[in-house]
Amino acid sequence: MAPEIGHHCGLFGIYGDPEAVEKTYLALYSQQHRGQESAGICSSDGQEIDRYAGMGLVTDVFDRRRLEEVRNPIAIGHVRYSTTGSSANVNIQPLLVVYSRGQMALAHNGNLINAKLLRDSYEEAGAIFQTTSDTEVIVHLMAKPDHIKRQDTLGHVLRHLQGAFSLLFLFPDRIIAARDPCGIRPLCLGQTEQGAPVVASETCAFDIIDARYVRDVEPGEIVTLDRKGITSQRFVDPREIQPGHCIFEHVYFANPASLIFSENVHLARLAMGQQLAREAPADADLVIPVPNCARCASMGYARESGIPQGRGFTTSHYAGRSFIMPSQDQRNLAVKMKLTVIKESVRGKRLAVIEDSIVRGTTTRGKMGALRQAGAKEIHVRVASPPIRHPCYYGIDFPDPNELIANQCGGSVEAIREYLEVDSLQYLSLEGMLSCVRFAPDHYCTACFSSKYPIDVDEPVSKFALEPH
Ligand code: SF4
Repeated sequence: MAPEIGHHCGLFGIYGDPEAVEKTYLALYSQQHRGQESAGICSSDGQEIDRYAGMGLVTDVFDRRRLEEVRNPIAIGHVRYSTTGSSANVNIQPLLVVYSRGQMALAHNGNLINAKLLRDSYEEAGAIFQTTSDTEVIVHLMAKPDHIKRQDTLGHVLRHLQGAFSLLFLFPDRIIAARDPCGIRPLCLGQTEQGAPVVASETCAFDIIDARYVRDVEPGEIVTLDRKGITSQRFVDPREIQPGHCIFEHVYFANPASLIFSENVHLARLAMGQQLAREAPADADLVIPVPNCARCASMGYARESGIPQGRGFTTSHYAGRSFIMPSQDQRNLAVKMKLTVIKESVRGKRLAVIEDSIVRGTTTRGKMGALRQAGAKEIHVRVASPPIRHPCYYGIDFPDPNELIANQCGGSVEAIREYLEVDSLQYLSLEGMLSCVRFAPDHYCTACFSSKYPIDVDEPVSKFALEPH
């Protein structure tokens, strides 16, 4: 898939390490797939927070020599794709503010479905917002005098939020991590070899700095990292928790090396590929993945079907991850720059082509056309997830539902096949997909496939809902 959808963000935090800033840089680099529009690091010497951030890739934003000079032992970092708010300097995270209690930096992965409501109420009272991202309402909630007076300010604030939020707060002397009561986006805790606690969206961020995974931050949990160590509290009664982990993290978003929701992504995708082969066999000579995302599912399909796996495309490592780019033109160009068909590999062959998902269908159609042009005899597309038909309100930037190919074709798989101009097309069933992951089906959000939203959305929120009008 998926040059057609936008991802969300990646977070990292580390407490009490003299190389905290350097390690944050590496951890953001390893999570670059979660967002390529901007990157930022806020770090503290225990008294004052320093911010270093900019638009672009991690390697473009940060000057390594300048980073090495910052020896602050406490740091948080963020890579961003804009799911609410435009791709602009003001929206780069972590946000850094000064309020009545001093400095506070904040990094957010997810989407608040009641951000507009909250923001409108603050603006009506005369508040001025500096950004157009949903994250800034959290800052206003934190700074509200009535909330500050409370013993449990943060828990009280978090209970006002609806939607998906994995959050990292940096105060001069501590980091606080929190996760929404459904645990929609991932957030996990780890420890470096030297014993410093770390927190990240994905465990691939731990691997690059030789840290080990300890556990997930639980849905509805607040975890504080400070000189006393790690302390945990709940802002929601655990008995009221109904998890709604984003299944798309396993289907497509996360790095295959990562543990997401305490389960390895590669193994989940491998199982989806195997299940797909059982549900949707194909008469083919060769199984090929649409790079790079479907590689694990393709391996599973080949393993289960006994059809050898081959390579149909080469990928340029230098073209970037196209789906994160904001405009369709940029994405189309990026796909062309990225993929080349290996003609000698596909010519005269009956191909089972494995996709992780299909969004608008335009990119898949283009790739299938390229395979046909290169001499493929038959093309049988097998998709390792069900058709996408509904919007995501929790931090993934799908196109308008009317632009989704499954809706354009009225839900008819045959009509999608005709559009793609392939010999056959089959999708993995919802039940089949959910049988490949660790928890019970009701522990996952599958709303973009099933329309079952774990949190009710009264009023759909657009990406630019908070822009001035
Ligand atoms: Fe994930 Fe889809 Fe749910 Fe969004 S709607 S959180 S992409 S499963």
